Formats: sequence, structure tokens, C-alpha cells
Amino acid sequence: MNVGDGGAARMIEAPDIVLVGSGIMSATLGVMLKQLDPRLRIQMFEVTPELAREASDGWNNAGTGHAGICEISYTPERDQHGGVPIGRALKIFEQFEHSKQFWGSAAAGGVVGAPEDFIHAVPHICFAQGEENVEFLQARHAAMAAHHFFGGMELTCDPAVMHKWAPLVMEGRAAGPVAATVGAGTEVDYGLLARRLCEWLAGQEGCGIAAGWKVTGLERVLERWSVKVQCQTTGEKRKLETRFVFVGAGGGSLQILQSTGLAEIAGLAGFPIGGEWLVCDEPSICARHDAKVYGAPPPSSPSLGAGHFDVRRLNGRRQLFFGPFASWTTRFLKHTGRLSDLPLSVRAGNLSALLRTAARNQSLVRYLVAEGFQSIEDRLRAVRAFYPNARSEHWRLVEAGIRVQAIKKADRGALYFGTEVFASADRSIAALLGASPGASVSVNVALETIQTCLPHLLADAECLERMRRMIPTFDHDLKQSANAALFEKTSREAEERLHLNH
Ligand SMILES: Cc1cc2nc3c(=O)[nH]c(=O)nc-3n(C[C@H](O)[C@H](O)[C@H](O)COP(=O)(O)OP(=O)(O)OC[C@H]3O[C@@H](n4cnc5c(N)ncnc54)[C@H](O)[C@@H]3O)c2cc1C
Repeated sequence: MNVGDGGAARMIEAPDIVLVGSGIMSATLGVMLKQLDPRLRIQMFEVTPELAREASDGWNNAGTGHAGICEISYTPERDQHGGVPIGRALKIFEQFEHSKQFWGSAAAGGVVGAPEDFIHAVPHICFAQGEENVEFLQARHAAMAAHHFFGGMELTCDPAVMHKWAPLVMEGRAAGPVAATVGAGTEVDYGLLARRLCEWLAGQEGCGIAAGWKVTGLERVLERWSVKVQCQTTGEKRKLETRFVFVGAGGGSLQILQSTGLAEIAGLAGFPIGGEWLVCDEPSICARHDAKVYGAPPPSSPSLGAGHFDVRRLNGRRQLFFGPFASWTTRFLKHTGRLSDLPLSVRAGNLSALLRTAARNQSLVRYLVAEGFQSIEDRLRAVRAFYPNARSEHWRLVEAGIRVQAIKKADRGALYFGTEVFASADRSIAALLGASPGASVSVNVALETIQTCLPHLLADAECLERMRRMIPTFDHDLKQSANAALFEKTSREAEERLHLNH
């Protein structure tokens, strides 16, 4: 395998493409590109000695296969007729279908090993308490179940049925109106998946991965990018040239983009939000919860304040996670970030956007500071909203990953909670900004990067056929009712390939 760390870096001559970072975004794009055009020479750089240990690592994110089934944040409001608009949930569901299709074809083609190592079928439950929330969930269910994506979604207001779906959520609960919906969802170990994709890429002719090498800057030299890299163990510096760069450096992407001096970057800023989990390893408790349970965010907290109660399967062990609890940080990366990351990212061009963001999001800042001061008992109170009988001795606090929210000048101080592909005006560099729905839509991020920056790779019938083998419906709109049968067929095929048994 062409993965090298430190002095033994695997660097190839004259790469066509440089990928910065080995997380799920770069790993997915690298494999998609190599499968589209096997002649491409691809070089990946990863600053840490191991691959995909930042946000994509299983312990750093929640592992939800975001498909809009249980996340109220994708359907937060009612329209003027009292209905719940579901457009965002439909979009995320369709993007996650693309992910399942791509992973399914990768599993069938021997690219990622056994799918049960990284993806599991898990019920996605949306739980509501109190009259108003129950009514909202009923309206949400009515809107969603009418669409072929969510036809199998069930609703109940019966505590006995809910007890069957999620016993720990109902035991010890005070009487009062409750409701829940359940749909067929997934849990994904994005870190393991990214490492498998990287391993495949590293084994291909003309591809190399240099772990322990940091990309320290990018400079435009005529029609090419000069990529400056430094070995993190020996301090050795090198430069190499390439036609196209994808910055998939997670929280580190902004700093790399700023090194380019591109005019398009000027108003761009980042706002980091740290995270923590409460984790339960007690086997007798873990055995009794097999779902991801989301609910409404607590009053006056942003959508990212909505903790959820999840079964996880990491390193072959079953555990329960509650969180993430957001926290205040100025670092952009968990492993290699510095406290100076946020202050050093301030430029004349993004200062006004940052100041406006601080002014407009004071409640978010207050929320983050307050979360940081929470005791373990305070945090357990949040757990008990989902699991009333939770006992402190069964839970431990674990650091999660860092989400760097994108701030753009044009947004007039709005924090961007989505995931967005940035492309330079000349399409020679692309980057992934934002944090959520994140890893779940990594396949769409790769697809969009290719469509925007490397469209020649989809130019003829043979190329389109290769893309269709990876993502059969990439150029169809599965949301249309006319495509309901196509959706059923491709979804079933992908789930069979991924051994998902709902
Ligand atoms: C608390 C939390 C919960 C989340 N929950 C979910 C969820 O349930 N579902 C979901 O789909 N998504 C979730 N996400 C989002 C998801 O984890 C991210 O969107 C996704 O992992 C980002 O992948 P990436 O490849 O862009 O970044 P990363 O995985 O962070 O990878 C970037 C890589 O680049 C490397 N790097 C950085 N700088 C440099 C440099 N200068 N040179 C070389 N290498 C560099 C880093 O070391 C890292 O390995 C969550 C995130 C967090 C933090």
C-alpha cells in the first residue's frame, strides 16, 4: 500500500490531483475520481500519522446516516396552513441515497471490505413530549409519510408501542402527552469507511498517500498550484505542482484557503464549536437500546444544541452515546489545532463578517459558554429527558470532534450550519466548508466537486456509464413521484449490497 508516514512518505511524481486531508471527503473524492478515470495520478497529504482521525473518526461524530428521518432540525417550522414543509428533509434523504448507492457499489467491487464493519441498520426515532411538540410531530409525520421516501415511517402516541421501540426512553417517565415516529435509518463509522477508501486508493497505480505531512500553503504558478508540504517528524519541506487541489482538511480548510490569496476567499471566516459525549459502556444497559432517538432542541438553544440518544458500534463494541454537548473553543482541529487558530484566521476582509456574526449570534455564544460550565449532573439532566432512569455512575465524558461553521460575507453575519462546496472562479481548487449534515453527504460533495470543477470527467457516454455504476441515480430526481419505482429499486439494491436488514 502506498501510504507512508514521516520520512517514508509515499509521494508520486507529477500528480494531476492533490487531496488535502484523509477524512471522508477527500477519501470519497479520491476513489470516485480514480474509478472515473483510472489514468489519474492522485496524491493525498494527511498531517497526522494516522488516517481519518479528525471529525470523520467514529468517536468524533455521531455516526448518524442523516436522511431527514428523525432530525427535527431539517423540518423545524410550520407553514401558514399549519403543515410542515419537508423540502430540506427530502433533499438530505436523496443525497443519502447517493451515499448508500456509492458505498454499495464500493462494497460489491471489493473497495471497502465487509459493509457490516462500517454501516448498520438502526431505527431512527423522533421523540416528542408535551402537547405542542406532539401536535407538531403529528403534522410532520402527515407531511412526510405522504412522500414515497418516507412511506414506511410509523407514528404512535401510545406509550406501550413506544416502549417496544425504545424501552429505556419510556421506563420511569412521568405521565403526559408523548409521541414518536420511527423510520428505517443507519449508523455509520465514517472513520473506518474513510480509512478503507484511502487504503484502496493507496493501492492503485499512480496514487500515493503521505501521512504525517502537512500542507503549509498553496501558491498559484501560471496554470498550476504549487503545494508546499512539511514532514511533521523530520521538518523536511517539499514543493510539488498540480493542476487541481481539493481542500478536504476539515477545520483546517479555511487556513489553507487563506494561504492562496484568492479574492473569492476574502470574506470567508470560520467559527469553531467543540463537542463532548456522555458515553455508557455498561453491557446490560447497552443491550436494551437499539435506536437513534432525536427530539426537539431545548428552548433557546441553536439546532446543534439538540442532543440525541444513540446506540453506537465502534471497534466491534456496542455503546450508548448522548450528545453532542457543544462547547466553546478557539481551535479548528482536535489533534493538531492551536488556541490561536481563531484569532489568526481574522483578516481585514473577514473581520466585519466575524463581528456581525458575534453581534447577531450572542445567544449562541452565551449558550456555548453556559454549556462549557455544565457539571456532569447538569448534563445527566439532559440525558434523563430521553432516558429517565439514567444513573451517573454509568456514564463518562468523552471529547468529540470540532465543527467549524462557515461564515460568509454575503450572509451578513449568519452562521452557516450546512455543508457547502467552495470552488474558485477558475475551478482549479475546491474545498468543503461547514459541518452538518457532513459525512452523510460526502458522496454528493464529491459529485458536486466533479460536476463543478472537473466536468470533462463526465463528458462522454463511457464516463457517464462509469458514474452510473457508482451512483445509478446521480442524474435523476428521485423526489419526483414519477421516479418512485426507480427509487424503490435502487434503494433495495444498495441496501442488499450493504447487507442492511431493516
Ligand atoms: C460532534 C460532531 C458530530 C457529528 N455528527 C455527524 C453525524 O452524525 N453524521 C454526519 O454525517 N456527520 C456528522 N458530523 C460531521 C462530520 O463528522 C464531518 O462533516 C466530516 O467528518 C468532515 O469530513 P472531512 O473529511 O471534511 O474532515 P475531517 O474528517 O476532519 O478530515 C480532515 C483531515 O484533514 C487533515 N488536515 C487538516 N489540515 C491539514 C493540513 N494542513 N495538511 C494535511 N492534512 C490536514 C486532518 O488531520 C484530517 O484528517 C459531526 C461532526 C461533529 C464534530
